[in-house]
Amino acid sequence: MNLVFLGPPGVGKGTQAATVAAALNLAHISTGDLLRAAIAAGTKTGLEARASMDAGRLVPDEVVNRLVRERLQEKDAAGGALFDGYPRTPAQAQALDGILRDLGRRVDRVLDFQAPDAVVVERIGGRRTCPRCSAAYHVTWAPSRRDGECEKCGGKLEQRSDDRPETVKHRLEVYRRDTRGVSEHYRSSGTYVMIAADREIAAVTADVLEQLKGLK
Ligand code: AMP
Repeated sequence: MNLVFLGPPGVGKGTQAATVAAALNLAHISTGDLLRAAIAAGTKTGLEARASMDAGRLVPDEVVNRLVRERLQEKDAAGGALFDGYPRTPAQAQALDGILRDLGRRVDRVLDFQAPDAVVVERIGGRRTCPRCSAAYHVTWAPSRRDGECEKCGGKLEQRSDDRPETVKHRLEVYRRDTRGVSEHYRSSGTYVMIAADREIAAVTADVLEQLKGLK
């Protein structure tokens, strides 16, 4: 099964993606995490991506498409993948169709997570992430039980530099301008479902799993 999670930054799709991928045994492919790992490793891709990410702009399509194609070759992705934060432009959506077609696969379901802007801004403002394992927390709604540290790996939690208010505003503009068109790409395909993300984490997860029932 191959799933796409869409929605604005901060809507909670990364949190849902981690839970759902684990529950359904899918590879969780977050292009944001792949790019941050490339930056941390000091690769050429990381160097190319860094300035765009710091400014809240999108990284060029060909860079993320290449990362996704490579990531899908890894063993854990053979049984299916959950794409989180990708595709983010209509051109990436077309590229993903082609990448999956080459593997004899297709996008089986697209879940578009939606919440009012005020909710999204509040969620991003309170988000704290683990630089080591990418786990995400929220200072109010999902705090770590280990003060300031990641529950999973003990990493020191931090606020992502692009989660600061001035960059967030720009990321939301980019989402409205470039990423909304991705919903159009999928809307007519019969695979597209809208998810109300302005609810408790567990309620959203239950809804998502319900929407995926019966898919293989
Ligand atoms: P995220 O972790 O999904 O919020 O992504 C953080 C940043 O990484 C974005 O603001 C972009 O600069 C970059 N990025 C992540 N995924 C993509 C993508 N699919 N296309 C272009 N840029 C991306």
